[in-house]
Amino acid sequence: MKEKKVIVVESSESEESDGEGGDQRSYNDLKCNVCLLKYSATSKNRSPRILANCGHTVCFGCIKNITASQKVVRCPFCKKRTNMPHGTVKKLPKNYAIIGLIEEMNKEKNEIS
Ligand SMILES: [Zn+2]
Ligand SMILES: [Zn+2]
Repeated sequence: MKEKKVIVVESSESEESDGEGGDQRSYNDLKCNVCLLKYSATSKNRSPRILANCGHTVCFGCIKNITASQKVVRCPFCKKRTNMPHGTVKKLPKNYAIIGLIEEMNKEKNEIS
């Protein structure tokens, strides 16, 4: 009995060897999947908020739109409901992981230009 161990670790397809701005793609990913606008560390309406019950992140402005006057947010992605802390969107936790990334990237941009 022979075990087939064909683990190819060679990544010979090096098509993306331009070496320029390889990180820009991840910056584009930092956007709200509802309104497709980028999250912002400074603009309140674009600040990323976590829906505590499911862990999805939506921007402040979109959560406001979704909830209208309700005290509960229904996640636009998985439809789970999250109770609004103190009945206001403002009290939903910010996604500091995303905010941190944005700030890092802004810093990098400033250093380059
Ligand atoms: Zn949004
Ligand atoms: Zn969700």
